[in-house]
Amino acid sequence: MKDLAAQLAQIVHQHQWDKHYENLLQSALKDPDVQSFLTTYQIPPESAVIKRNLDAIYEFVHAKGQAHFTGDYQPHLIWVNQTIHVSYQPDAALRQRQRQQYFQQKFQTIDMASDVRQASLEDFAQGAEGRLAAYVAALEFVATYSQHSGEFIPGLYLAGDFGVGKTYLLAAIANELVHKDHNVLLVHFPTFAVQMKNAIGDNSVLERVHKIQAVPILMLDDLGADALSSWIRDEVLGVILQYRMQEKLPTFFSSNFTMHDLKLHLAVNQRGDQEPIKAARIMERIRFLAREVIVAGPNRRFEK
Ligand code: ADP
Ligand code: MG
Repeated sequence: MKDLAAQLAQIVHQHQWDKHYENLLQSALKDPDVQSFLTTYQIPPESAVIKRNLDAIYEFVHAKGQAHFTGDYQPHLIWVNQTIHVSYQPDAALRQRQRQQYFQQKFQTIDMASDVRQASLEDFAQGAEGRLAAYVAALEFVATYSQHSGEFIPGLYLAGDFGVGKTYLLAAIANELVHKDHNVLLVHFPTFAVQMKNAIGDNSVLERVHKIQAVPILMLDDLGADALSSWIRDEVLGVILQYRMQEKLPTFFSSNFTMHDLKLHLAVNQRGDQEPIKAARIMERIRFLAREVIVAGPNRRFEK
């Protein structure tokens, strides 16, 4: 008697569960994405294929509901070897984030404001009065560098007053290059110089110099903004530029000084000593690595 009751209870339980399961599957089959998948592959709704693949169909509909909350990976039904499978692919937002991470890796910066990643050549060209020469030179560089990789192409030395958009242009060129799959490092040189002095303490000077000297495209922003010590000028800047000259690696600069005036600036070290020969040696390397372009125009810093 007891056995029979237990058996009965089990049958009722099983039956209800089956009914519940059946309901879930029926609603899964009604899902519009499932329907269009079945139509695409001409799978009849009552067929054996459906019965064999109910678990995949159910998983798909369930995961689709979940993906709304978790975002990242969207389920898709795929038809492989006469069997239905669920495949998970990154959705548009995730793909966008992955793309951004990829470019972030190609465009490295040291001590630059994060908005440099938004700079674009098209925006630089807006109201290009005084900037036209620099804009054209930038386009020319990007086009030639992309076509003849391997051959040395000089970078640009952007000279111009405070606020005309030199840093912005360097960043815009960098963004254009990384979207063509080149690697760029943009360095705020005055801050970098201070860091290098601190690096003497932990013996990491050589390691840091090696790291930045070898990047495919190097941009040194704001050269000459501060008086340099002889050590930074000769052992850091000089060594980096020497390496890039030997390896024929394009290098960009920006400065408030023209090349002519930078030579005078570099000839006087932080202590006030005159060292024209050392300055001339640095200038030779800069002249080899980059073409001077004057950026003119209004001071953009007061427009904001
Ligand atoms: P510089 O390096 O010559 O001193 P910046 O590149 O820092 O000048 O430009 C000064 C300010 O103007 C910055 O805030 C920069 O973001 C902005 N700026 C410069 N050019 C543009 C541009 N074409 N579009 C939008 N903002 C710009
Ligand atoms: Mg600047």
